[in-house]
Amino acid sequence: MLRIIFLGTGGYLPTRNRNPSAVMVNRERELILFDCGEGTQQQMMRAKTGMMSLSSIFVSHFHADHFLGIPGLIQTMSFMGRKEPLMIYGPEGTREFTELFKAFGYFNLKYEIRGIQLKPGDVVEGKDYLIRALKTEHSIPSLGYALVENPRPGRFNMEKAVKLGIPPGPLFAKLQRGIPVEVNEKLVKPEDVMGVLRPGRTVIYSGDTRPCDSVLEASRDADLLIHDCSFADEMADWAEESRHSTAGEVAALAKEAGVRKLLLTHISSRYTDDVEPILTDSKKIFENVIVAEDLMEIEVPYRPE
Ligand SMILES: [Zn+2]
Ligand SMILES: [Zn+2]
Repeated sequence: MLRIIFLGTGGYLPTRNRNPSAVMVNRERELILFDCGEGTQQQMMRAKTGMMSLSSIFVSHFHADHFLGIPGLIQTMSFMGRKEPLMIYGPEGTREFTELFKAFGYFNLKYEIRGIQLKPGDVVEGKDYLIRALKTEHSIPSLGYALVENPRPGRFNMEKAVKLGIPPGPLFAKLQRGIPVEVNEKLVKPEDVMGVLRPGRTVIYSGDTRPCDSVLEASRDADLLIHDCSFADEMADWAEESRHSTAGEVAALAKEAGVRKLLLTHISSRYTDDVEPILTDSKKIFENVIVAEDLMEIEVPYRPE
């Protein structure tokens, strides 16, 4: 399972239908947050994601709309008896901010919180995946993130295995796990019965940024790109000045990178009543695009073989 839950899709200002930034990944029941704007914990409740399986929060940058949800979430999890450590990753300043969150108000923190600063290119290893920090171009120190799954084993060729004299059962399972087995005094190696490795999935989260090369490179052939799209093209000058991206710019980047699907988020409050200008500007260039909404959920499928 690789499921993306959009908890907050608004821009700098929250609106009646958009919370500030928070994107949750549910990967095989491990929860990971990319940004945690104000009100994220209540969005988690509305989306019924649970909290205790949250392993880490990856902060893109320390503008208020991306991190103000952290102190409340930390305290709620402490109240609910969390024991497992929580990792908070982010750009420079992460260690100081983490210390602040831990000391915010009067409460007894019952679990450990570790703040870890990342530089572009740094890699955090997870179970069967990694998350790489990407250089982005915003008005303050900032990072994007690429979640890259490890390749999956190839398909098991049962016919071939039977032909080689392997009886169905535990020996099949061993070979599938990559362990050689011996039958009739002959060694059978996993590669004798397994197809070539199959690619895992890749999800890119840009955080707030101008369109930039590092996000483009990381997005090549990605299954899903979640990108800052604060404005439609009419606001190009302001997007440049405020270091955000427009619909047309992001669509062009997605097209060049050859991503399978594009999700636009960090939508400015000026589009509260109508996101049509954003959708129109992006569809002109890239067809498979969706403007994210709060509490929208999408599954990232494996690509067809
Ligand atoms: Zn923002
Ligand atoms: Zn920002």
